[in-house]
Amino acid sequence: MTTMTSARRDQPKSASRVWPPHAPQQLEATPELLAELADASARLETATPEEIITWAHERFAPYLTMATAFGPEGCVILSMLAKVAPDTYVFNLDTGYQFQQTLDLRDRIAEKYGIEVDMLQPELSVPEYEALHGGPLYKTDPNQCCFDRKIKVLRQAAQGKHAWMSGIRRDQSADRAQAAIVGWDKKFNLVKVSPLANWSKSDIWNRILAEDVPYNPLHDQGYPSIGCWPCTRAILHGETDERAGRWSGTGKTECGLHTIQESDGSGI
Ligand code: SF4
Repeated sequence: MTTMTSARRDQPKSASRVWPPHAPQQLEATPELLAELADASARLETATPEEIITWAHERFAPYLTMATAFGPEGCVILSMLAKVAPDTYVFNLDTGYQFQQTLDLRDRIAEKYGIEVDMLQPELSVPEYEALHGGPLYKTDPNQCCFDRKIKVLRQAAQGKHAWMSGIRRDQSADRAQAAIVGWDKKFNLVKVSPLANWSKSDIWNRILAEDVPYNPLHDQGYPSIGCWPCTRAILHGETDERAGRWSGTGKTECGLHTIQESDGSGI
């Protein structure tokens, strides 16, 4: 079984840490739970993100978690968590290929909000992983690379949790347009909460500017969407898709965390 490690980049992987509470039982997608989630999702369609987060915290804490890649949406949610649910366990899928500016943002967030995002790393370091595959897999098989360095780590992080939050917005892509505010995520067997589903890019940046929320400086250099450095480029003049710089030229558009599978309409 793949194991993950939790470590700051400037700490050894063996650094001790306190893990969040582990639920004695995983949630099951019973008809009753799915009905409850559908009802909540419908009611929360007109709620503010802070109200959605508060509902999720009241319903699922301490087994509520959040994954962030430190995008503008994630940074906004972190600023909201600081106000309404500061004890929420937040983690980052630290693939080993993130930009230094992204890693630095983790510390700026901690300094401003006191929220220490946990950096979860795959079992194999980048040199070990590339040695195993005879070179960087992102060049030849990015789906497998994302699976090994993101999906597997998230699956393990999901153990002992009941719900996770993400910063996806419906206007980001066709896949994301179908996101429920609250739904069942079959891929990870968790309730998925998307507090910003109804927000636009302008809403996000208005909040960042109004409250001086820390954000990645690469956004000011032509990178509207930032992932791992080998699979991210600045967008070009005339490109309107804010995710055009992700896996550019490969046909790949998502790492797999937010894609829909066998959807029953209850969530992604
Ligand atoms: S985004 Fe690129 S480097 Fe990062 S995990 Fe996926 S394929 Fe690998």
